[in-house]
Amino acid sequence: MIELNEVSRSYPGGVTALDRVTTRIEHGELTAIVGPSGSGKSTMLHILGTLDRPTAGTVLVDGHDVAGLSDRQLSALRASRIGFVFQQFHLAAGTSALDNVADGLLYQGIRRAERRRRAAQTLERVGLGHRLRHAPHELSGGERQRVAIARAVAGDPPLLLADEPTGALDSRSGDEVMELLRNLHAGGTTVVVITHDREIAASLPRQIRMKDGQILDGRIR
Ligand code: ADP
Repeated sequence: MIELNEVSRSYPGGVTALDRVTTRIEHGELTAIVGPSGSGKSTMLHILGTLDRPTAGTVLVDGHDVAGLSDRQLSALRASRIGFVFQQFHLAAGTSALDNVADGLLYQGIRRAERRRRAAQTLERVGLGHRLRHAPHELSGGERQRVAIARAVAGDPPLLLADEPTGALDSRSGDEVMELLRNLHAGGTTVVVITHDREIAASLPRQIRMKDGQILDGRIR
C-alpha cells in the first residue's frame, strides 16, 4: 500500500528527522510505529500520509510515486484513501458529533443529507449512536476520540493513520480506542498507530521501531 525507499526528511537548520528509511506497509496490516520522543515518528506519519514530501528518497502510494503528483492530486488522494486521527482529536468546537463527522465527507462530493446519514451510521459503528447531537465539550475524552475516528473512517478509506490516539486519554478510554482500531482493522482497514507507549506497540501484530530518524527493525515478530 505504501512503500518508502531510502526516505530522508531534513529540516532547515540541519535536523535530519528521517534518515534513509526503507519500509513497506502492506494492505491489511495493523502496525505500530514506536520510539521515544524526537525519534521521527510524526515526521514518518506525515510522509506516509502524504502531508509532507521527503527531501530524498521515494514514496509510493498504491504504486504511484508521490513526487510525480501535484499538491492538488495529493489532496485528492488523501481525501479518498487516507483517514487521520490525532492525539488532540481536532474536532470543531460547538459543532455536534454528527456534523463533525458529516463535514469530514465534504470533499467527497456527497450531498448533505447523505453525509449526515453516513455520519450517523459511522457514529453508531463506534458506539456513539446515542451522542449524535452532543458537541465535543459535552463528551468525554474517549468519546471525542471515537468521534474523531468516526470522522476519519466515514468515507471508508483503506488506510487509517493514528498519531498517539490514546495519548490524551485515561487508560480505560485508551483501551476502548485501541479496541475500536482493532475492530476497524478486522473489518479490512489498514491501520498504522504512532505511539511512544511500548505496551500499546507490543499489543499490535507489527512494530516499526524508530530511533534517531532510523528504523531499528521493521519486523520483530
Ligand atoms: P517524534 O514524533 O518521534 O517525537 P518528530 O518526527 O516530531 O519525532 O521529530 C523528529 C526530529 O525532527 C526532532 O529532532 C524534532 O525536533 C525535529 N523536527 C520535527 N519537526 C520539525 C520542524 N518543523 N522543524 C525543525 N525540526 C523539526
